[in-house]
Amino acid sequence: MRTVGARRWVGMWDALPDAARSIVKELIIHGPQSRTALAKTLDLSTGSLTRLTKPLIDAGLLVEGDVVHDPVNGRPTRPLDVAAGEHRFLGLKLTADRVHAVVTDLRAEIIAARDEPIGDQSPDAVCRQARRLLDELSGGAGALVGAGVTLGGNARASAQVGGERLVDAPFLGWRQVELRPLMERALGVPCVVQNDVAALAHQHHWFGPGRGLRDFALVTIGAGIGYALIMHDHLAVATEADLGMFAHLVLHPGGPMCPEGHRGCAASYLSSWAVETCAGQGLRRPVTYDEVMRLAAAGDRVCLGVVREAAHALGRLIALVATVSTAKTVVLAGEGVELARIAKDELALALTANRRDLPDSVDVVIESDDFREWARGGAVVAIQSFVTGSD
Ligand SMILES: [Zn+2]
Repeated sequence: MRTVGARRWVGMWDALPDAARSIVKELIIHGPQSRTALAKTLDLSTGSLTRLTKPLIDAGLLVEGDVVHDPVNGRPTRPLDVAAGEHRFLGLKLTADRVHAVVTDLRAEIIAARDEPIGDQSPDAVCRQARRLLDELSGGAGALVGAGVTLGGNARASAQVGGERLVDAPFLGWRQVELRPLMERALGVPCVVQNDVAALAHQHHWFGPGRGLRDFALVTIGAGIGYALIMHDHLAVATEADLGMFAHLVLHPGGPMCPEGHRGCAASYLSSWAVETCAGQGLRRPVTYDEVMRLAAAGDRVCLGVVREAAHALGRLIALVATVSTAKTVVLAGEGVELARIAKDELALALTANRRDLPDSVDVVIESDDFREWARGGAVVAIQSFVTGSD
């Protein structure tokens, strides 16, 4: 994959006016549009629009489609679009023992994906592994423009030195690592480092069920419990401490116990280990999360009971989120969302009961449990950084 194209962009992109960025953003999120429609949406004159888009067309970022009749005024027009396939982004999600990688186009469509164990946990070695994955996934077409790395668990930006955020990721044994410059040197393109749940919220905002919504909340369930809030089109910045508290909100005093000694907190019902432990107790043997879901779907009494209890707790958690944030849409994602599908009735019952018995006051959207979505979140924050010029 070529990376020279990205370098060509860096200088040009820095100098672009905000209005030009808004045009690119609008086309990426909402698809090809006529100049008249774009000018109307963005409150620009058609003259300004033509002036702003010409250098972007010349540089190959925007393309003109075939002639169609403009839906606004009926005149023949050539709709504008982004050259999505020509621009590639690398998304990486790092866990304690695996790296998940995707290469996407400018609309975050996955072109290639792979996950593999992390061979050597040192930051340099992980960056070299990222480079090798990129080379193996790229297939030669399109120019790599940027990369995004997401980390979960208790990774955080520990300090800022010379404008560079240092990353602590205890699950990888990392302390105060300058991950971004290391990754940029390895990959040869600009790189963004982001919390994995925040990245997933950005992904849903631009490319998922949150598209077009100014406000929504994201709850993720899996190995951990995550939360992010988009309000007025912006991510509410949460600290590691905020997120840790969310996972341990007590939903039913007297419920199962979590490793921190709470009874009935969100983690004690909804995390993968909680579901596995609880079902294993009833079945009197070790059991995996996927097996619990399969057995529950087949009507096994123990597993169905565990899943229903978890879904009830989830309904209560979603009600709390919606009530406190006032968001009317809650997106559920993460590798553990299957429990919400299997026991959707329990979830709905608990949600309604905790919303003063008002049915359908919250729109709950259950997303894919594909683990690649986490890596795709990395590609999305790279795309957003490219388009908006921020990181
Ligand atoms: Zn707890």
